[in-house]
Amino acid sequence: MPIFSHSIQNPTPCPDSPDLETVVCDCCGGSRTLPLAVLPPVDELALPMHRLGAAALRFQTGAVRFCRCQDCGLVYMNPRLTENAVARFYDTVYAVKGAAPAFESDQARRTNLYLDRIAALLAVPQPHVLDIGCGAGQFLHLAQARGWTVSGSELSGVAAEKAGRLLGVPVYHGDFREMGFAPASLDVITLLSVLEHLRAPMDTLRDSAALLKPGGVLMFNVPNPDSWEYRLSRLTGQRWRGFIIEHLYYFTPAFLRRCLTELGLDIRVMSSWNPDSRLPNPLRDLRAARAAAPAPATSVPMIPAARPVSLPRRLLRQANHYLLDAVSALSEGRQGGGSVSGNALFVWAQKRG
Ligand SMILES: [Zn+2]
Repeated sequence: MPIFSHSIQNPTPCPDSPDLETVVCDCCGGSRTLPLAVLPPVDELALPMHRLGAAALRFQTGAVRFCRCQDCGLVYMNPRLTENAVARFYDTVYAVKGAAPAFESDQARRTNLYLDRIAALLAVPQPHVLDIGCGAGQFLHLAQARGWTVSGSELSGVAAEKAGRLLGVPVYHGDFREMGFAPASLDVITLLSVLEHLRAPMDTLRDSAALLKPGGVLMFNVPNPDSWEYRLSRLTGQRWRGFIIEHLYYFTPAFLRRCLTELGLDIRVMSSWNPDSRLPNPLRDLRAARAAAPAPATSVPMIPAARPVSLPRRLLRQANHYLLDAVSALSEGRQGGGSVSGNALFVWAQKRG
């Protein structure tokens, strides 16, 4: 069966929310779904930047929902934000935040682990890598330090320019399909924290696979709505913390196995292992909070305030977060292990042939 993105073919505008549309499943085109969760009102969104971006949109409380396709298992937002609404969301957030956060040293360590694993699968010592959605270019910078040939595409103009300066080579501002790569011409393609943000992830997966040489490696990470934390949340009647306004799509291990096989890719490693994971420690957090300087007054007064919560409720909520954090950390597995129970999945897949 040919793989293509069904959801962008004929979205139906929502009559009562101009920023929302109803779509069919992006993978199979089906519309039989199991409801999973509802996006909370703006003042209940946990991240200030999400409250800021969501405040720029027009939709009613309860209108944005998350569901699972009963035919193929893909999990997605539906009704979801329109293309225009998504653009407005990011414009609002980036206007404040800047296009790229600082690259911490632990991120560099993690990135090098990704690169090590890619290198171990390749027969060529100095591959050509395309990073789709390369942000400010930090991943490509570390690949370049290994002597790899690097290309990047990025939808944010500010980030693309920053990446170009860092790498000393132009980064394409726009869609990677416009870059003119011949089919089967690249050794490595990476999609780091990208697929879940896209409106048409199936098209991107198909077109990425087509650009890989036989033996080439596709590496990506996605949120996993089949994690232990997800299951515990369902069991206790809570919304999974992974369902957020920025993420239109969520991918289970079973879905990815089927989908990548159809695209001619063999999964070499699928793992939810997170090198920075650690068990929660309330005492350590308390000490850190005491040692920290008082938080500066927010410099962004237009961010909507979070809904006030009473102290007992706040303590209960904090205890619940610690429980979920512990489950999440325990579910991620150990280095090199193939646990797929964590909240994020990291996949290294190799093109057949
Ligand atoms: Zn489906």
